[in-house]
Amino acid sequence: MPASAHTLVIQTAFLGDVVLTTPLLTALAVRHGPIDIVTTPAAALLIETHPAVRQTISYDKRGADRGWDGLRRLARGLREQRYRRAYIPHRSLRSAALALLARIPSRIGFAGTWSFLYTESRRKPTEGHESDRLLALADGAPAAYPPQLRPTPSDVQAAADLLEGAGIGYGTPLIAIAPGSIWGSKRWPYYLELARQLSERADVVLVGGPDDVALGDEIVRAAEGGGGPGGGGGRRRVVNACGKLTLRQSAALIGRAALVVTNDSAPLHLATAMGTPVVAVFGPTVPEFGFGPLRAWDVSLGIDGLQCRPCSAHGPPACPLGHHRCMRELTVEAVLAAIEETGALRRRR
Ligand code: SF4
Repeated sequence: MPASAHTLVIQTAFLGDVVLTTPLLTALAVRHGPIDIVTTPAAALLIETHPAVRQTISYDKRGADRGWDGLRRLARGLREQRYRRAYIPHRSLRSAALALLARIPSRIGFAGTWSFLYTESRRKPTEGHESDRLLALADGAPAAYPPQLRPTPSDVQAAADLLEGAGIGYGTPLIAIAPGSIWGSKRWPYYLELARQLSERADVVLVGGPDDVALGDEIVRAAEGGGGPGGGGGRRRVVNACGKLTLRQSAALIGRAALVVTNDSAPLHLATAMGTPVVAVFGPTVPEFGFGPLRAWDVSLGIDGLQCRPCSAHGPPACPLGHHRCMRELTVEAVLAAIEETGALRRRR
């Protein structure tokens, strides 16, 4: 095991939240040295190569470590590490209790319901991007650290191999599409048509996890039905990478693309962390919640003037009004125009 760390971060929220915590990890490492982080098994593999991280400690809170027994078991292990301080960006009882049970003497979290379990609570800003709001936990840190991920050379090679196996080399524009979301109402319904039209001008790769495989296959079939490779018509490749790569390899694949088209979901933050431009499609949520694209050259699209929008913090599983106008009225033409404007269809990677 590497030399001991004194600082622990506990962040077991959604994957995108963990990516947006990486500026905080950087700020804390600058101040205290490399940090350890307790996070979900999926996020642990994604950020174990981050330069601020000494080691990741996987906490399978919905699986093997479920319930109080799992929490106490993990706390016992943390106690042996004798951390001096814990930072807890996720406002949750479980995270606050874990730091307490691990007997970490200095426990710093955001003010809220569980503040009484901390030794120090800080106000979480209500404005600004979530990555900057989380950075406020490292009191006084400059908001100059961007989200960042570091796939390894073998991750990059795995992504390159997948593309090469599908006949996609360097030198042509490559657009990544992330069509999935765990929140049904946040899925834009026209990715099939978008991929078909994009494939007239660029290679297209579909990124996502195992849950997105069927949707990815459907998009590939739709594109090929319109005259894809083997179907004639001069189209380029459309390849389904959903479920075929690890998260870090997927990040590497996103890093290779000229642009990512995505819903308001984790791939948006992966793209930000990999420096890849984004066109993000917002339905029941809005960028003003603090989870939108970060850079000036990124684009957010959404239907303005809908009285029901936004309708929830995360996006409901399905439209509560049944019409899903926030997504259905956002046309393929509008998304294509935004992509065109970024210049990505002329960029060769
Ligand atoms: S209620 Fe409105 S904002 Fe919410 S999912 Fe339906 S159309 Fe979208």
